[in-house]
Amino acid sequence: MDYGPAPEASGEVMKWLSARGAFGHFIGGRFTEPGPTFDVMNPATGELLAKVTQGTGSDVQAAVKAARAALPRWSKLSGHDRARYLYALARHIQKRERFLAVLETIDNGKPIRESRDIDVPLAARHFYHHAGWAEMLADEFPSQGPVGVCGQIIPWNFPLLMLAWKVAPALAAGNTVVLKPAEYTPLTALAFAEICAEVGLPKGVVNIVTGDGATGAALVEADVDKIAFTGSTEVGRAIRKVTAGSGKKLTLELGGKSPFIVFADADIDAAVEGVVDAIWFNQGQVCCAGSRILVQERVARDFAERLARRMARLRVGDPLDKSTDMGAIVDPVQLRRIRDLVAQGEAEGAVLHQAPCQLPATGNYFAPGFFTEVAPANIVSEVEIFGPVATLTTFRTPDEAVALANNTRYGLAASVWSENVNLALDVAAQVKAGVVWVNATNIFDAGAGFGGYRESGFGREGGREGMEEYLAEPPVPAKAEPVPI
Ligand code: NAD
Repeated sequence: MDYGPAPEASGEVMKWLSARGAFGHFIGGRFTEPGPTFDVMNPATGELLAKVTQGTGSDVQAAVKAARAALPRWSKLSGHDRARYLYALARHIQKRERFLAVLETIDNGKPIRESRDIDVPLAARHFYHHAGWAEMLADEFPSQGPVGVCGQIIPWNFPLLMLAWKVAPALAAGNTVVLKPAEYTPLTALAFAEICAEVGLPKGVVNIVTGDGATGAALVEADVDKIAFTGSTEVGRAIRKVTAGSGKKLTLELGGKSPFIVFADADIDAAVEGVVDAIWFNQGQVCCAGSRILVQERVARDFAERLARRMARLRVGDPLDKSTDMGAIVDPVQLRRIRDLVAQGEAEGAVLHQAPCQLPATGNYFAPGFFTEVAPANIVSEVEIFGPVATLTTFRTPDEAVALANNTRYGLAASVWSENVNLALDVAAQVKAGVVWVNATNIFDAGAGFGGYRESGFGREGGREGMEEYLAEPPVPAKAEPVPI
């Protein structure tokens, strides 16, 4: 398929942004007047893209009230009628795919190839998939209804896709939502609000309140029936404390330090290509990034050399250029965090291999890299860098690989590479992670549950398990009275 050059849609996006000036919230089916705003910047250029309203506690209350008012009618629609709205949302995302891809790229810094081929199509796919669930709900879950009003808080690494992961199942099950996008990247959520209005989604079914962590905290404390959060483990932990005992249903999708295990008999070139996807996709800002490469000792030197050669060929630069492999880091704060962690890793004795690429003079760029000679106690062995830098360590036996893979407080994803399927499946079964890919990485499907163990959170998104998270518990069947004999 020919998508045409990105700059075509860029003009349309810039016109859209300048026509709006400043954005208010989307509450009860319409945009509110903008209040005090914060700036949303293009991470690749440092230019101002938009002014977006900082949501207050009363903005959140108004959104929750609108969602509550919309709930009875929306939840009583037949699954078929809700499905029609979800199909319409999916189709409209597809109709505006170039626009959304460019908007996502200038807001987040990710390469246009990724937003065009991954983020936007997968977001549409999520709505299609969940339209199917809405149709089947009465048959599949006959005794379960919606949870109610759902507060949804999403991060900045996949803004539109994370919105789709949260909104589509919620709506399919008959819930209404108040969604808070991340403060770095609220723009595709605001474009999605327009799409909701365009398809005639009943007012109040989807509400979007922009703002920072304080706005998110207000949503957690508001009169909602469920909180679905994706973001850092620290904030997830705080949300868990606040919601404990409140009766609110909670799902948390948090960080990771996912192992990428390469056995000596693996197709080494394929595994090297896998690393490109595992740690340099989206500048490494991926919760399930394969950030701990574990290579069997006898091929480790060869693997590291081939990886370094492949890394040197990555094109880092303008995210709107279709030939770019790695774009900009989302924000100067995140860039600083990556720089500090990498510097500390080096100070603690690890050896950094970095692509010798020329970075653009402006924008938040960081060259792709990986560490060798990493001691287990080194900070980069444990802490999620959330940037384009992995660690490479070695193992001798499958048992050692499993032990190293599980030596983490996280448990989100893992990837195992071997031409021996028995070995790969045996190891996969022993790795404690919500998803384990064999000879592959970063494969996402709306039909497959995604989520973690331990400090990676709990609950699943996608598939049947993901639907269950948006349904109330089934009524406990009344116990039959024992018949007196
Ligand atoms: P964060 O957890 O602070 O932010 C994620 C979302 O939560 C944003 O919408 C934010 O506004 C909101 N938020 C912040 N504080 C909140 C609070 N007290 N109550 C409710 N909502 C709140 O993440 P970040 O600061 O943007 O990134 C920091 C680190 O988090 C990253 O370096 C990375 O390690 C991790 N992260 C993980 C994911 C993921 O997909 N699991 C995504 C983004 C960031």
